[in-house]
Amino acid sequence: MSETYDYVVVGLGGLGSATAYHLARRGFSVLGLERFELGHHRGASHDTSRILRHSYHTPEYVRLTQEAYVDWAMLSAQAGRELVTVVGGLDLFPADPAIPMADYTDSLALAGVPYELLGVDEIGARWPQFALPEGTVGLYQGRGAIVPAGAATQVMQELAVRYGATLRDRSPVTGLTDTSVTVEDGTTYACRGIVVCADAWTNDLLRHLDLEIPLTVTLEQATYFELDRPEDFAPERMPLWIWMDEPSFYGFPCYGEPTIKAAQDCGGPSVDPDDRTGETDPDQLALLTEHVNRMLPGSGRPVRSLRCQYTLTPDRDFVMDRVPGHESVVVGLGAAHGFKFAPTFGRLLAGLACGDRHTVSPTFSLRRPALTEPDYAPHWLV
Ligand SMILES: Cc1cc2nc3c(=O)[nH]c(=O)nc-3n(C[C@H](O)[C@H](O)[C@H](O)COP(=O)(O)OP(=O)(O)OC[C@H]3O[C@@H](n4cnc5c(N)ncnc54)[C@H](O)[C@@H]3O)c2cc1C
Repeated sequence: MSETYDYVVVGLGGLGSATAYHLARRGFSVLGLERFELGHHRGASHDTSRILRHSYHTPEYVRLTQEAYVDWAMLSAQAGRELVTVVGGLDLFPADPAIPMADYTDSLALAGVPYELLGVDEIGARWPQFALPEGTVGLYQGRGAIVPAGAATQVMQELAVRYGATLRDRSPVTGLTDTSVTVEDGTTYACRGIVVCADAWTNDLLRHLDLEIPLTVTLEQATYFELDRPEDFAPERMPLWIWMDEPSFYGFPCYGEPTIKAAQDCGGPSVDPDDRTGETDPDQLALLTEHVNRMLPGSGRPVRSLRCQYTLTPDRDFVMDRVPGHESVVVGLGAAHGFKFAPTFGRLLAGLACGDRHTVSPTFSLRRPALTEPDYAPHWLV
């Protein structure tokens, strides 16, 4: 045993950094351990931008987004800089969409969040950048926003350190018990509680507690496109958009550079996170480019792409729970849509670890059927 902490957080991506920050802010001694260098590009929290939105397929998620906007506002105040860029959000449902629009409209209505439904002509009048097929309906929610992925993760790490946390990178955790973690060099840290935020590598940690959950890691690809007239795609003139069909795509207005970013949701191959490429996939690129150039005629050729991992639970719901039989170990997993909730994950996981929360929700439980029934049929398009 070398050192003792109140809590150890394993993994310092967006979720783990937020958790270390919230635990340290409560006055606990916190150690954060990251296997790669801080700010690396091997996980899921790097690059420039992530979507923050209210429009979700269940009232529970819509209500959680209401907490997320408050948590981002508090984080921005703590950081002394605005982290949320509100641009408006446009969910585009073609005729006979694979994703039911009613799931979204009902959920927003039940949570009391305003939205508008717009036809192709109304969308074209407001945002002439779009060329949409007849029959498309746009669900517009005015608070759709962009948050900076890599930069916000760094902000949460800096705040954690400001509140006294110790963050150690290049420190892979190779062993874990209810009250200790061991890193690759054999050093063992004692603690009263552990929060695992290891995303694609979650099962590497849970195996030490004889637990394994069904996770699929896919290698996604986001691409930046040059623009004939960048001013037309400025954040004050263009909303973020999601094409609500199969395949599903999403994109952003300009954000800190004269390009637009877009990607396919769940378009990547399954991979082993320890054995995956960083190279651009030409097939994914071709499929995305065809969609973007058709839907946004002012978008030009792709100028760069990046790879990033999705870690999918079978029902695409989060994990926020204690490990059954190991109540001092808490797990947080964002199921490939968690960054918008990063500060909220941090607050809720800290609450679970400290014991002032006993559960978060059955939807996020490790005991739920999607994680315990072997024949549960995965569905990721939501
Ligand atoms: C292309 C793409 C687009 C996305 N778009 C959105 C979006 O618009 N909105 C949204 O809300 N979400 C989005 N997401 C999902 C979101 O980015 C993730 O849910 C979120 O970043 C997960 O954060 P994390 O901290 O759990 O994971 P990660 O950032 O992957 O962090 C896990 C960390 O654990 C570390 N680790 C693993 N094993 C160990 C070990 N043994 N010891 C120490 N450290 C370890 C890893 O190195 C890593 O740094 C997107 C994801 C991708 C890939």
